Amino acid sequence: MGLSGTRFPHSATDKDSMKAIRKVAPRPGALEWADVEAPPCGPSEVLVRVRAASLCGTDAHIYNWDGSVRDMILATTDRLRRPRIIGHEFCGEVVELGREVRGVGERGAEAIRLGDFVSAESHIVCGECYQCRRGQFHVCTREKIIGVHRDGGFAEYIAIPASCAWINDPSVVPVEVACIEEPFGNAVHAATEYDPRGQCVVIIGAGPIGLFSIIVAEAFGAERILAIDTTAFRLDLAARVGAHTTLLTTPAPPGDAGARAFERERIVGLIRDAAAPYEPDLVFEMSGHPDAIDTALRAVRRGGKVILFGLPKQSAVTFERYADDVIFGGVTLKGIIGRKLYDTWKRTRELVSRPEVRSKIRAVITHTLPFERFEEAFQKMLARETGKVVLRVSRD
Ligand SMILES: [Zn+2]
Ligand SMILES: [Zn+2]
Repeated sequence: MGLSGTRFPHSATDKDSMKAIRKVAPRPGALEWADVEAPPCGPSEVLVRVRAASLCGTDAHIYNWDGSVRDMILATTDRLRRPRIIGHEFCGEVVELGREVRGVGERGAEAIRLGDFVSAESHIVCGECYQCRRGQFHVCTREKIIGVHRDGGFAEYIAIPASCAWINDPSVVPVEVACIEEPFGNAVHAATEYDPRGQCVVIIGAGPIGLFSIIVAEAFGAERILAIDTTAFRLDLAARVGAHTTLLTTPAPPGDAGARAFERERIVGLIRDAAAPYEPDLVFEMSGHPDAIDTALRAVRRGGKVILFGLPKQSAVTFERYADDVIFGGVTLKGIIGRKLYDTWKRTRELVSRPEVRSKIRAVITHTLPFERFEEAFQKMLARETGKVVLRVSRD
C-alpha cells in the first residue's frame, strides 16, 4: 500500500486492511467497528499507527447526527454512500513518510523520522487564504477537519498531512496525554489569549475544555479560579484540577424567562461574593448554555474580558443588557477557535512537560476503553457521566 516514500521494514502497514470506527448511515448512532482498507500515505503526508484517541463533543454531534457536522459529512462522503471514519483527537507512531515530507511544525523546521511519536492537529489549513497569508492559520477560511471532512483517527492507521503532525517526547508524554493534546490545546489557546497571571478567572462550564482551562490558568499563575457547572461530578473534577471555588447552578426551564433571570442573578451574586476581594478579570464561557453569555457579562468586572468557546444549540444568542454590560462595561469579547499554529502547540509541549500538569490531565480522563467498546464509550459521554474518554488500540 501507499505511494511509497519511506516506511518501516516489515511494519504492520504492509497489511492492506485495518479496523476503524465509521459512520455508515445518516441517522443517530450508525457507527460500526469495521474492517476497512488501510489508507495510502500521500506524498506530503505521514502515516500514523494510532495508539490512542479520545472522544470529543464533535464526535457526540456526529453520533447524534446533529445539524452542523451532518452537513459537512454529507457533503464530503457522497451523502454517506462512502462511510466516514470519525475521530480527530489521537496520537501514534509514524510508520511511513511521504516522499515530499521534509519536516513538521513551524515552516516544517522540525525533523521527523520513522517511529516518531506524534499528536495530531485536527485542522488542515490551506496556507493560501487571506488569514493563512497573515499567519492566522487557526481561522483559515478553507480549513478541513480530520474525522469530519476526511477520514479520521478512530482507526488503526491514519494518513495526515505532515503539517498536522506534532512530535512528542515519548519518555515524557504518555499516550493517553498525547491523544488529548488537541483538545487540551483549545484550552491552552483560550486560557493564554490574555495572560492569566495574577487574575481572577471564572470558568462557566466544567466539561473537558473548561477543566483543561482551569489547569492552564493555574499553571500560568491565575490568582483565583472559580468554576460553575450543573453537575456535582464535574465540579469535583474542577476542584481536583485547581478550582479554588466551585458553584453548582440549576438551569431553569427555557420557557420560564423569570426563573432563568432569577437563577442567573443568583449565580452572578455567588460568583462576585466568592471572588471577593478580587473581581472576575477573565470569564470563560465554555458551556454553550444560552443564558451563560449574560451570566458571563454580568459577572465580569468592568474592563474585564470574556472568552467565548461554548457553542449554543441555536446560533442566535441575545445580550440582555448589551449597552450596559458590553459598551459601558468596557468589556472585551474574544471568540476562540482551534489552536494557533504553532504557538499553541509550543505552549502545550511546555505544559505537558510539567509532571503536575500531566497528572491533572490524567485526572480529567475518567474512562479508558478499548476501541471495540466505542458504543459503551459514547453512551457514557452522552450521559454526561464522564470527563474525557480515551479509546486505546489493542493489538495482539
Ligand atoms: Zn475535539
Ligand atoms: Zn487558509
